[in-house]
Amino acid sequence: MDYYEVLGVSRDADGQEIKQAYRQLARRYHPDVNGGSAEATDRFKQISEAYAVLSDQQKRRRYDAGGVFDFGFDGSMGSIFDIFNQAFGFSNMGRGRWASPGRDLEQQVDIELEEVLTGAERNLTYERMARCEACRGSGAAAGSKPVTCPTCGGHGQVRQRQETILGSMVTIVSCPDCGGTGEIIEDACPDCGGSGVARTTEQLGVEIPRGIKDGQHLEYAGMGAVSADGGPPGNLYVRVNIADHEVFTRHGNHLYMSLDISFAQAALGDTVTVPTLEGNEELQIPAGIQSGEELRLRGQGLPSLRNSRRGDEVISVRVNTPTQLTERQIELLHELAREEGTELNPPAGSGIFDRVRKAFGGE
Ligand SMILES: [Zn+2]
Ligand SMILES: [Zn+2]
Repeated sequence: MDYYEVLGVSRDADGQEIKQAYRQLARRYHPDVNGGSAEATDRFKQISEAYAVLSDQQKRRRYDAGGVFDFGFDGSMGSIFDIFNQAFGFSNMGRGRWASPGRDLEQQVDIELEEVLTGAERNLTYERMARCEACRGSGAAAGSKPVTCPTCGGHGQVRQRQETILGSMVTIVSCPDCGGTGEIIEDACPDCGGSGVARTTEQLGVEIPRGIKDGQHLEYAGMGAVSADGGPPGNLYVRVNIADHEVFTRHGNHLYMSLDISFAQAALGDTVTVPTLEGNEELQIPAGIQSGEELRLRGQGLPSLRNSRRGDEVISVRVNTPTQLTERQIELLHELAREEGTELNPPAGSGIFDRVRKAFGGE
């Protein structure tokens, strides 16, 4: 089974895309929403296994390198639900309570193509829900403290009697009054309304590595929203947007540009100066080059993310047909045609034909 195919992502998908794909599929194939259908459960196992491998950088590298490895996945439903809970950020808070995680956040930074070569730094300012400073996250107003929940006596759980077909059963559920924390707040902090979290402005220095691709995400674990009920904080994903360049188009690590040259340059060859990301370079145009042929400046492209090897700058040559001809040029082109043995027969009424006639003393 191909893990990328199972999750429906491309082989260069980043961590954020893989997580999103898994979450979407997991919601669809989770046994709880499929009445435990064997087919859906199998599918759920497959996507969970794929996610467990691809979401782990080390395992993913080993998987990408090919070969057969033991990824330590036993296929039991217990380990599958562990993967599921981890992907959704749920964490076991003990006392039978599952806390929901803080939200993941996305921010965008813009960089120039030149900065893909050098790497870049940005200072990011963004807002997130973070621990309330006024009450230090307790949710209780200054001078007061959360008190023991009278409903559950601080246990966080209560017994509930349920009538079932097997008779009366006692189950233990999370306390409805304190939400399982065992404490309630009588005098709520005015800054956060008792939630313990408040909107805060954060500053973050973002380092953008050389060779980054357009649309790729940088992951900052725990820099997303802080959970209001004690779960882990979400992550911050910084999307890197690369501005279009006026000369170069990027394909992988190669840079493409087109260069217009004259017919004489194409036929006789020439040495010209072309722009690079770092300045200018001399480029030799070999004699007899055809329109559409490509020339390369090796190593003048972009570095790859994995190593510092750079791609090429590829110059696509376009031979211009001259249009605004002087009398002398017309004469020379006719001479050239005669030399090649071509008998010219320009269509009547074309500007060039009339001018040719004039040049040769006709009406
Ligand atoms: Zn507060
Ligand atoms: Zn309680």
